[in-house]
Amino acid sequence: MDNRDLEKKMVRYRDLITVKSTDNREPFFAVDKENLFYGYLRGMDDMQDYFSGKIIVRGTVYEKLKKADRNLRIAYPDYRLYITYGYRSLEIQTQRFLKQLSITSRGRFFSNPFDLYEEAHRFIAVPTVSGHPTGGAVDVTIVNRSSNTFIDFGSDIYDFESKKCYVETAGIPDKARRNRLLLRKLMLDQGFAPFDGEWWHFSYGDKEWAYYYKKNRAIYNQVEGSKIKLCNM
Ligand SMILES: [Zn+2]
Repeated sequence: MDNRDLEKKMVRYRDLITVKSTDNREPFFAVDKENLFYGYLRGMDDMQDYFSGKIIVRGTVYEKLKKADRNLRIAYPDYRLYITYGYRSLEIQTQRFLKQLSITSRGRFFSNPFDLYEEAHRFIAVPTVSGHPTGGAVDVTIVNRSSNTFIDFGSDIYDFESKKCYVETAGIPDKARRNRLLLRKLMLDQGFAPFDGEWWHFSYGDKEWAYYYKKNRAIYNQVEGSKIKLCNM
């Protein structure tokens, strides 16, 4: 399947707006070095100045990440899950989306504004359906502790340009493909939903998760940064 066919299979804005949501008011936690490896990476560090540089997620998400990491260690003693992103403030998501809207619409006329949103959404999620601002979406990779390097996934994390970030894209080495499957299985075993457009992105409780698992509704809404009180900081 070529990349265009893969894009057609990916969850769209028009799919996500069909999903209702009710927030279960589950608290947020900062990912702790005692429990999990984490760190913002260059190019995706817009939350670095908030919450003292900690990555934060909902409580259930935190528990699931720890379980996934435990299962990984059992199978591969040198491997650790490495969290590179969790919650993004709704304010930042909105700024980024507005910027994307102006890039997508530059010099073009959309007879239906909905199509403009759909196209912009492929690059930056529309805030009202976005996953990271709910505290349910995470970006994860795997580090090999013996060499202190990330294992090979066939593309760098956050390499959107080459489209090698598409989970099922052609032309990546078998070993990298197996590593993608390993990460996917680890996360899906814990009830996370995958996103086929980015091998590193998974979510629980948000609209993408509800859509993937055909749930009645999402259990996490998007939250403004100023409304968050952390349980363990
Ligand atoms: Zn993500």
